[in-house]
Amino acid sequence: MKEEQFQFQAEVTKLLNIVTHALYSDRDVFLRELISNAADACDKRRYLTLTNPEIQGSSDTYKITLRPDPSLTTLTLTDNGIGMNRDELITNLGTIAHSGTSSFIDKLKDKSDVNLIGQFGVGFYSAFMVASKVVLITRKAGEEQAWRWSSEGLGSYEISETTKETCGTEITLYLKEDAKDYLEESRLSHIVKTYSDHISIPIVLQKGQDEVSLNTASALWTRPKNEISAETYRDFYRQVAYAFDDPALTIHFKAEGMIEYAALLFVPSARPLDLFNPERANKLKLHVKKVFITDNCQDLLPSYLRFLRGVVDSEDLPLNISREMLQKNPVLTKIRAGLVKKILEELVDLASTKPEAYASLWSNFGLVLKEGLYEDDQYRPQLLELCRFTTSTHSLVSLKDYIGRMKEGQEAIYYISGETEESLRHSPQLEGFENRGIEVLLLTDPVDDFWLSSLNEFQGKSFKSVTQGTADLPQATDDKNTKSPEDSAQEETLLAFMKKTLEGKVKDVRMTNRLSKSPVCLVADEGDIDLRLEKLLKQHGRLTTQSLRVLELNPHHPLINGMGKDFQANQQDPKLVTMASLLFDLAKISQGEHVDDTQDFTEKFSSILMGGTLAA
Ligand code: ADP
Ligand code: MG
Repeated sequence: MKEEQFQFQAEVTKLLNIVTHALYSDRDVFLRELISNAADACDKRRYLTLTNPEIQGSSDTYKITLRPDPSLTTLTLTDNGIGMNRDELITNLGTIAHSGTSSFIDKLKDKSDVNLIGQFGVGFYSAFMVASKVVLITRKAGEEQAWRWSSEGLGSYEISETTKETCGTEITLYLKEDAKDYLEESRLSHIVKTYSDHISIPIVLQKGQDEVSLNTASALWTRPKNEISAETYRDFYRQVAYAFDDPALTIHFKAEGMIEYAALLFVPSARPLDLFNPERANKLKLHVKKVFITDNCQDLLPSYLRFLRGVVDSEDLPLNISREMLQKNPVLTKIRAGLVKKILEELVDLASTKPEAYASLWSNFGLVLKEGLYEDDQYRPQLLELCRFTTSTHSLVSLKDYIGRMKEGQEAIYYISGETEESLRHSPQLEGFENRGIEVLLLTDPVDDFWLSSLNEFQGKSFKSVTQGTADLPQATDDKNTKSPEDSAQEETLLAFMKKTLEGKVKDVRMTNRLSKSPVCLVADEGDIDLRLEKLLKQHGRLTTQSLRVLELNPHHPLINGMGKDFQANQQDPKLVTMASLLFDLAKISQGEHVDDTQDFTEKFSSILMGGTLAA
């Protein structure tokens, strides 16, 4: 029979090159990967026979068999799963489709990440860690023709026709000289126990006519909680999540009543790599009556909980449900509601009972959770309770902590938002608050501006930007001087003069007690869009107009005082116009912005430094 030769895609060759030289200690994972593929293949065949009655479902019980042959130094893995046809062999075992894999391969150069191989959809190639040659005989369910695929893992592979009585796949590994210990029962049994015990399909070792069972083969989530050790949970987590960390939180429960389902969910202790992929997809595995259906059911969890991993198993959905039918399915909607409620309860509980564990969870996933603040009105109170903030005085502050520390007479939860914590700490707008010991939330995540614009209170306290509206601060203790009526009148005329001078550049000019060290700052007017949000919307092309800001002056600053005196002495002094314009520029600069007209600024600034004046 004709044998065709194919070249591996360049990335595959690159990967194989690294994999074949993998560290000895990492090599066990090849078995986990091949078993995981075999189990997936069985799940797929089960699903196919349930949804396509014309494809004959045999009465086969699914099984994965390991058969070591010491005389040939081979290890053979057999499954009675879905199998592959010729085209599938070429795409699945000759190319890498998965995006992100190339960067994984580049990272792999130091060979320490081989463990992660399954996460990148290239687990099959790990066979070449232990085998100098791999031969695969496979027949797809519903097709007659079987195929033989073989390769020595160098640059090419061969495919030829063959025969096989049943559908499924048989993979024979010609073990390398230094990998002979994978023929030993104890070794194989240990690896299966470590990595694959929870696989719900029986994994057996064939010894002559006998079969030895290697795994428990009952779905972990169906077992009672008190019979499951932390270690078993951890191993299961690592398998479902393709992860190597420990779960930060394990949530295992059964819902009984109107609808029945079991869920075994985990919060990872490290950020999964795809957390911020644009599709923001959740990865939970949906089962129906223990049969795996899909790991791509986006209605199962809102995307702000996409960092959870694990399994949900429904008793009420029909087994032959198609992926399309899952959309907007009422049973699924109820399951989702139940999951969200339970997950948030568990998180709130963790936050109050183990604040340290919660703090690290928050640092990993807080950004994702915060997306829920504007996506999920219903759970906003719980989500707000879960939020932790850095403030001008403390870190990891909950809103409850904040409210508990509010000053007498303080009505609002104050915040300031910007690029970095460092720049926020230097904002002039913060000065007056710091002076009065009022805590201010420092918000640096772009998502903050979005939820803040869609929500305005927590436990009856409104959120207020310190760069928006009047400051309304109580008198500071060092702020004793009260103004005489004449002073006030003088102030009013100065402000009116400045407003006129800066017409078209500012909306208003006013005195403020927001400042203590700085002479001036800019704020958004009450009811106008906050400065940072405006900037963000512009960056995203969602806003084209610029709203005018309010220029605020610090009445206690010598510069402002001096200007007041000059104004009193001679209202026509051309220097005053120059100063008004410079103060506006100064406010922009202190905010990290550019001045409108650099040349004009330079000229005015120089003239003031020289002590002279410019002709108006
Ligand atoms: P992944 O399992 O993440 O897709 P792998 O490299 O492990 O990546 O496998 C690539 C593909 O090869 C699988 O998605 C599957 O389509 C196919 N495959 C591998 N092993 C088997 C098998 N035993 N039976 C059927 N298909 C298989
Ligand atoms: Mg795989």
